[in-house]
Amino acid sequence: MPSTPEIVRTVGGLRDRVAAWRRNGERVGLVPTMGALHDGHLALVRRSLDDCDRTVVSIFVNPTQFAPHEDFETYPRDEARDLGAIGAIGTDVAYMPNAGEMYAEGFTTTVSVADPSNGLCGAVRPHFFQGVATVVSKLLLQCLPDRAYFGEKDYQQLLVIKRLVRDLNIPAEIVGVSTIREPDGLALSSRNAYLSDADRKTAPLLNAIMRQVAEKVAGGVAVAEAETWGRAQLQENGFDPVDYLEVRDGETLAPITDTLAPGHPARVFAAAYLGKTRLIDNIPVARIL
Ligand code: AMP
Repeated sequence: MPSTPEIVRTVGGLRDRVAAWRRNGERVGLVPTMGALHDGHLALVRRSLDDCDRTVVSIFVNPTQFAPHEDFETYPRDEARDLGAIGAIGTDVAYMPNAGEMYAEGFTTTVSVADPSNGLCGAVRPHFFQGVATVVSKLLLQCLPDRAYFGEKDYQQLLVIKRLVRDLNIPAEIVGVSTIREPDGLALSSRNAYLSDADRKTAPLLNAIMRQVAEKVAGGVAVAEAETWGRAQLQENGFDPVDYLEVRDGETLAPITDTLAPGHPARVFAAAYLGKTRLIDNIPVARIL
């Protein structure tokens, strides 16, 4: 039944709720977010509501995954709107700890996941995946859900989380959910709110150019050539800087040299700025013949 979710702000409060559900044999889903919720987040929540008896949505803008020059202070926050959106579809608990609850005085433990954090976003945002891996480990251990839901929109992050859960034997199943897009192809993102009107018109070109790169590679064009073409297209259309546009193995993120072998599952990954807004996206590419 749609209603306002119960707001829980402490680890102890969350544990009590989840323990009570478990005593009833209920399955628990967790959807970690940083708030400013849009239909991409809500797709994750809906998936959890479908799969599980109880759903917790965490809303926490995690300071440790932002570098000092990044947008932690200005990151969009709208608690009332977020609660309305997740309540309307039936979320049980909104877990909204403050920074002191999440990082008690003297906090000094971090989780870093070597392999999948290397390259792509890990190369340009060296602090980022350690911040994400640490906070997601904490959220999983605080909640101990049966399942936790993450977007393919942040594909490298999804692989980092799958690996840490496996490596640390955290007993939760990690579920990846397809990227939700605007009709013009732009992937939904809380940061899209930063785009000026002119940049919003340009933004779908990121995905359009990536799709052309995918088509070239699927058609047998050498990966390096398609990447160079794609980067040049982005630059010509005002994306500056282009952090990366790369075709990589879809499971290991290993770079692909040469042409794509038939049947090899790969993805195109890109990150680029329009003005001050950093956009990221990724799409699958498979060469059939
Ligand atoms: P964030 O609040 O940006 O940290 O995102 C929280 C979760 O929502 C992450 O698992 C993201 O991958 C996921 N997410 C963000 N945007 C989208 C989208 N457009 N489609 C699907 N999932 C998304």
